[in-house]
Amino acid sequence: MEFNNKTAMVGTPCQILAATKINSYSEETGGSPIDIKIGLFCMENFSYTYLKMFLDEKKIDLKDVKEFRIENNMFKIFLTNGKEKDYTIAETDSFKRRNCEICVDFTSDLSDISVGSVGSPKGFSTLIIRTSKGKKIVEGAISENYISSEPITEKGKKLLEKIASKKKKENLNYITSRENISHPVLYERKVTDDIINELAIQSQFENLDKDVISEGACVLCGACEFVCPSDIIQINERKPVRKGNCPEDCHACYFACPRTFLSENIRSHDLNSKPLGDYLEILTAKSKNVTGQDGGVVTSILLYLLNKGLVDEVFVVGEEKKNPWKPIARLTNDTEEVLNAAGTKYSTVPVAFKALKSKNSS
Ligand SMILES: Cc1cc2nc3c(=O)[nH]c(=O)nc-3n(C[C@H](O)[C@H](O)[C@H](O)COP(=O)(O)OP(=O)(O)OC[C@H]3O[C@@H](n4cnc5c(N)ncnc54)[C@H](O)[C@@H]3O)c2cc1C
Ligand code: SF4
Ligand code: SF4
Ligand code: SF4
Repeated sequence: MEFNNKTAMVGTPCQILAATKINSYSEETGGSPIDIKIGLFCMENFSYTYLKMFLDEKKIDLKDVKEFRIENNMFKIFLTNGKEKDYTIAETDSFKRRNCEICVDFTSDLSDISVGSVGSPKGFSTLIIRTSKGKKIVEGAISENYISSEPITEKGKKLLEKIASKKKKENLNYITSRENISHPVLYERKVTDDIINELAIQSQFENLDKDVISEGACVLCGACEFVCPSDIIQINERKPVRKGNCPEDCHACYFACPRTFLSENIRSHDLNSKPLGDYLEILTAKSKNVTGQDGGVVTSILLYLLNKGLVDEVFVVGEEKKNPWKPIARLTNDTEEVLNAAGTKYSTVPVAFKALKSKNSS
């Protein structure tokens, strides 16, 4: 597929991995116009439906929630009346998505720039610059007064490394125990590219269903739906479903899915010896004029990219008008919409990949 526009995406590590695979296997998947990847740190994600049930139990109306925050190992809910309700991370278990337990990437190792709160003081974001493209963007955003920054402290960096290593170690242990009882976690298997290609070109949606979806490993990223040339995959609230027959020579969904396999090249970014992956620099940063989840840095960088014409559109995750905190993914070039999408929505939502198809295909 030909793409006319350049797009920047913001996403969790699994979503960044999906975009990386779509572009790495463009011959099979058709590629995408995603040119800049801003990855978020992510320990786990939640199901909107179960989060709502938990809040109902606690007699908290989502309409009264000003902000959710994970801080000091607590899940904190800030209410519009100024009150704060704190719960332990163990209490979030009832609404945590199970497939996050097989995820080993905390800092979005495959992005151009990764952003999170761990390692920086309250009200600031930690920024990991990974690529020369990412470095140019951050330097531009600083010189154009969108953000200010300073190097991360040694203490902040150590904490970040500790948390990233902990996630990798605990979840790798869980993966081993899961595989021992025959629940495959393909993407963590160390196999050669030759074996992967042999496997993938025999695989279609049935295999994706068997290996990923039925195994509870789907992260609902939306990549399979986006790459399907026959438009027969639909993602409902819970999982992708197929409505129709596949042409014999198509394997696009199996290639794009972040939970099927990782090529040797992609996997090499995820070395256990480097808990934060490959990077050039780590900064503590804050927006000059945006209030966001932490330092408002993601929103400021997106605004910089749009205002300077460095990208044509960006992916953001805002909220549904009728259902407070229900995430809705959008592809937009409207700076007001980007500003309104600031803040973290702690539930899964398929990336608005689909919107790219109608806008960019030629
Ligand atoms: C599910 C989830 C879990 C996270 N867990 C951690 C963690 O454990 N530790 C940590 O340090 N940081 C975590 N983060 C990142 C953190 O919450 C902030 O997003 C990050 O620090 C950037 O803050 P900011 O003020 O610079 O961003 P802002 O300027 O507030 O911009 C936030 C951007 O994130 C996008 N966004 C919001 N919700 C989602 C979503 N559900 N999926 C994809 N994109 C979304 C919005 O489109 C917006 O552009 C998590 C983020 C998410 C989405
Ligand atoms: S699988 Fe879960 S923990 Fe991993 S990046 Fe995706 S949402 Fe975050
Ligand atoms: S046509 Fe079939 S194999 Fe190809 S992407 Fe769609 S569902 Fe997957
Ligand atoms: S099955 Fe589809 S939605 Fe689920 S993780 Fe794979 S590509 Fe993403």
